[in-house]
Amino acid sequence: MPPRTCALCNDARAILKRPKTGQQICKECFFYVFETEVHNTIIEARLFKRGDRVAIGASGGKDSTVLAHVMKTLNERYDYGLELFLLSIDEGITGYRDDSLETVKRNQQQYDMPLKILSYDELYGWTMDAIVSQVGKKNNCTFCGVFRRQALDRGAAILNVDHIVTGHNADDIAETVLMNIMRGDIARLGRCTSICTQGEDTIKRSKPFKYAYEKEIVMYAYFKKLDYFSTECIYSPDAYRGHARAFLKDLEAARPSAIIDIIHSGEAFEIKEDVKATQKNQQTCKRCGYMSSNELCKACTLLEGLERGMAHAAVTDRARKKLDAEGPAPENLRQIPLFRLPASLQAHSNGETGVR
Ligand code: SF4
Ligand code: ZN
Ligand code: ZN
Repeated sequence: MPPRTCALCNDARAILKRPKTGQQICKECFFYVFETEVHNTIIEARLFKRGDRVAIGASGGKDSTVLAHVMKTLNERYDYGLELFLLSIDEGITGYRDDSLETVKRNQQQYDMPLKILSYDELYGWTMDAIVSQVGKKNNCTFCGVFRRQALDRGAAILNVDHIVTGHNADDIAETVLMNIMRGDIARLGRCTSICTQGEDTIKRSKPFKYAYEKEIVMYAYFKKLDYFSTECIYSPDAYRGHARAFLKDLEAARPSAIIDIIHSGEAFEIKEDVKATQKNQQTCKRCGYMSSNELCKACTLLEGLERGMAHAAVTDRARKKLDAEGPAPENLRQIPLFRLPASLQAHSNGETGVR
């Protein structure tokens, strides 16, 4: 049988089958369609404006490495006028994050972008290794997730950027939609598909890979020979997500459009105004100044639990009551450094947000 020609350019030899569409195409056309789809996502959602300073949340893994490469490519090709930075969080996981950070350092050279690394140890005084030795491998991802979210915002504030892009892809979002349906979490379901989150005076987060399939990201990294780190976290016990992932992979095998279809279903759930009204107003944490819907932010509550040897109490919904029931926090309790918004956001917030 003669070699197939590419279904897009009708010229070069097709060497791959595109996971999203099943088309047989050549390498160059694959790069072009993949990048162009991300560009279209960015333009349709109006994610950026000229002169924006944007941090790429970089873990050294495939998603964020491909994101850094594609953001640099598109910024040059379409002259977005962005200033790009790499921002990495060092959770302190020996044998995992230390190796992946070496990859990010090489990416910094390869992509010629400034890099900021911020560690849990310097922010919270605890590494994930130490946290796991206290809490075990059950709730560790709760600590890690809360600490990472805040660490990214703090890193962005240090870089003076007010927008973080992350490598979350279509598979991640579809999995989250499924998980929120299975948990009956309608408020999260309404939010989890949005490409961009931003409160009035918070650092913007967005997901340019919202419609990019994981298989295509892996293929892109492979054919571009990108330098990335592919080991899974040694403390990854999120069994529920694992089930959602396996289910999604089965659906994708039967019908590749399943991933996008699930995202579209998630998008169709809009939160009604009266549900929105019951969602708490944003304030700032009275201990560390970070954005919070309670007096204390989640990271301060979790940190207090760790410091007082009551980490398990701190992960519950009534964490504050449980901690208070054991008496007031000790005077010399370890504090997270005060949070200051990037200068561009301080101007918007009329001095309301930030530190006291
Ligand atoms: Fe942190 Fe859990 Fe992710 Fe490991 S799997 S990096 S512990 S959130
Ligand atoms: Zn082609
Ligand atoms: Zn706090």
